[in-house]
Amino acid sequence: MSFVEKPVISKVSTKKINLLGYDLAHMKAFFTEIGEKPFRAVQVLKWIHQYGVDNFEQMSNVSQTLRANLAKIAIIKAPEIIMEQKAGDGTIKWLMRLDSGNSIETVFIPEDNRGTLCISSQVGCALDCGFCSTAKQGFNRNLTADEIIAQLWIAHRQLRKLAADSNAGGVEKLPTRKNGVKKEISNVVLMGMGEPLLNLDNVVEAVHLMLDDHAYGLSKRRVTISTAGVVPALKRLREECDVSLALSLHAPNDKVRDSIVPLNKKYPIHEILDACRYYFNGNTKKKQFIIEYVMLAGINDSEKNARELAVLLKKMPCKINLIPFNPFPESGYECSKIQAINRFKDILQQSGYVTMVRKTRGEDIDAACGQLAGKVIDKSRRSI
Ligand code: SAH
Repeated sequence: MSFVEKPVISKVSTKKINLLGYDLAHMKAFFTEIGEKPFRAVQVLKWIHQYGVDNFEQMSNVSQTLRANLAKIAIIKAPEIIMEQKAGDGTIKWLMRLDSGNSIETVFIPEDNRGTLCISSQVGCALDCGFCSTAKQGFNRNLTADEIIAQLWIAHRQLRKLAADSNAGGVEKLPTRKNGVKKEISNVVLMGMGEPLLNLDNVVEAVHLMLDDHAYGLSKRRVTISTAGVVPALKRLREECDVSLALSLHAPNDKVRDSIVPLNKKYPIHEILDACRYYFNGNTKKKQFIIEYVMLAGINDSEKNARELAVLLKKMPCKINLIPFNPFPESGYECSKIQAINRFKDILQQSGYVTMVRKTRGEDIDAACGQLAGKVIDKSRRSI
């Protein structure tokens, strides 16, 4: 069930309703409201999200009268792409301008057996984690559900264009659906700008669309919400949507975590891990639990830290991702030495945890973890 109150058609309102961010429940409510049968919702969802259509005229199985009526009261509107950058490793970054003049970044990461889209949930971020460059620009506002899903909608359209181009690099390797159609984007991670659990209503509505077979039909395991640990929202999340979770833990104890993730002072580690246990309820078959741990030299990367982490996570059914810190000017941190990262990984693996070191992708276009939007304001000005 969705819980965002959407505007209904008001006779006095002249503003058109943007249907891009409506999940099935809201779309049905919308069609009922205008006196149409709810099955129209399914038709329109498919046109928008499966065929990438933004014009009611193209919806050929919808009657002409309804198409004309829809064009009067509604629109399908996504942010404008103001920059598309490709990295040497095939990573693509889009800079998108929102209505209000704010910009957000979205990153596509192609790999041999999957294509991952990293999307943003807020403009900037309020959490102020010391090692993250998004934090440095402060918080501006939450994204609406349509701005969140638009990132997937736009990426699909752009990737299809690239795939149609015989010179496209990287996309031809992507996985293929059962019916032989390329599935450009197989995974979505909410690991871009912002804290998704501080924009829960809109994130949940967009996630409904990601999972809906009438829209993107992604599996729950392949949609991941990344959070620094907003405890009350984690509890609500279990009731609202059921996807994989990445916890940005980054420290084996509260003392270290307090110093790098200020939110920890409000929700200490044991409360967060309890909320995660509640979220998974012992079941990580359908959805994954990933612990993210950014490797900061001399801060959280000692052998003692690794052993402490192994004890802390005992009985948590999780995988651990070690993320080499991506430096940015004046961060004040350095990435751990490769030897320290490997030693850390070995200790965790010997303790029985599946542990991976994340490959840094798209570094040459500032698309790597924690680098998003550091220069957004500059870039959007430059490209006007
Ligand atoms: N607010 C959410 C999602 C955004 S951050 C969260 O905290 O999870 C996504 C991931 O990138 C987090 O694990 C974050 O800690 C990590 N990250 C941020 N800055 C980074 C940097 N400079 N280098 C490496 N990883 C970074």
